Amino acid sequence: VYGLLGPGATLETSTLENVRSIILAAQSLLNKLIRSNLVKNTNQVEVLQKDPNSPLYSVRTFEELRLKPQLLQGVYSMGFNRPSKIQETALPMMLAEPPQNLIAQSQSGTGKTAAFVLAMLSHVDPSRKYPQCLCVSPTYELALQTGKVIEQMGQYYSEVKLVYAIRGNKLPRGTKLQEQIVIGTPGTMLDWCGKFKFFDPKKILVFVLDEADVMIDTQGHQDQSIRIQRMLPQSCQMLLFSATFEESVWNFAKRIVPDPNIIKLKREEETLDTIKQYYVLCNSREEKFKALCNIYGAITIAQAMIFCHTRKTAGWLAGELSREGHQVALLSGEMQVEQRAAVIERFREGKEKVLVTTNVCARGIDVEQVSVVINFDLPVDKDGNPDNETYLHRIGRTGRFGKRGLAINMVDSKMSMNILNKIQEHFNKKIERLDTDDLDEIE
Ligand code: ADP
Repeated sequence: VYGLLGPGATLETSTLENVRSIILAAQSLLNKLIRSNLVKNTNQVEVLQKDPNSPLYSVRTFEELRLKPQLLQGVYSMGFNRPSKIQETALPMMLAEPPQNLIAQSQSGTGKTAAFVLAMLSHVDPSRKYPQCLCVSPTYELALQTGKVIEQMGQYYSEVKLVYAIRGNKLPRGTKLQEQIVIGTPGTMLDWCGKFKFFDPKKILVFVLDEADVMIDTQGHQDQSIRIQRMLPQSCQMLLFSATFEESVWNFAKRIVPDPNIIKLKREEETLDTIKQYYVLCNSREEKFKALCNIYGAITIAQAMIFCHTRKTAGWLAGELSREGHQVALLSGEMQVEQRAAVIERFREGKEKVLVTTNVCARGIDVEQVSVVINFDLPVDKDGNPDNETYLHRIGRTGRFGKRGLAINMVDSKMSMNILNKIQEHFNKKIERLDTDDLDEIE
């Protein structure tokens, strides 16, 4: 078994990595499923040009890009009026003649997918009936999502065809693909061009590697991607996208993309400045529930998210709250990603006013309109230490877009008081005690 996992790997580390990559891929998919808008960001795009002396173009409008009319129509039909921040710089680079290589990093929701889809569609020649663009994604589901964007943006450009190189899509031996764009996962893509020769890699004009950070966490994906890349001609445009940029992603990116232009857009910082933070002292889970009911009785809460440590507590609390007459949505770990997306979607539409969830489930998702966040259990890491990052992400708001908010922490033991104190010290922001029998103060 160890031999199969590759040098240096143990079964244990490999399993942990797999779990991590599954979680990352699921988070990424979840974000795509629930996202209907661009994520706002006021930071400056950082640009590192391959040739620092060449002029740097950026565009404020899609018209400036001189797209084919069919594509411009596609862009407008998706409701895009102007390029997003990252697109302003990335699009002219990707559409330049001669083509330039690009590594781009920005958090999910900032318009990367739309950007490279537009670049692929711009570069293909629909009169040539063979693959010209390859796009690799970490999972089957993510590939399908990107495929949908290609289909939407290319809806007025119907000569361009798309095929999925994903598991389960078995083609007869000897097939020669006629589609101009191939999108898939690294393993199947490699088989299709290497082993089965369904298309000629030497004719590829654009190679896109999406979600590089998720990709590198999956055993084998790095190697497979690199092997695909090596079959492509020197003149092929290489594009790599990632939501985060750790050292490992960077090392991988450099192997995939020679002579790159690099653009980065930092995440908008989250702060606690516009948030009123309170804690409530209780003695048990039941008391915490009672305090919660008192809070609901005293103030009008448009929508609240309530975080629990375990699935069991979350399930119990959701049950108790419904019995009290609240419309409650429950987000739980055993749900499929699509089910979770549906729950979040309903909550965002206001169909439910309370969303009860566990820590793990809600990681990485943003529900901006929530004005009240309740930590039924305080966020802790696996060793029981305060998880400051999660605390901030849950209740913090990004700079100028953030509405004012209210955060209430339930404390039910010496240990949790200790955790609360540490969180308070960490952020150097006072968390006030709230007496739930006398709630005049919070409104
Ligand atoms: P990323 O790949 O960085 O996660 P996406 O390309 O998926 O981002 O874009 C996020 C959301 O914003 C999608 O719903 C997409 O349709 C939308 N979007 C992308 N570009 C624009 C734009 N220029 N104007 C308006 N909405 C956009």
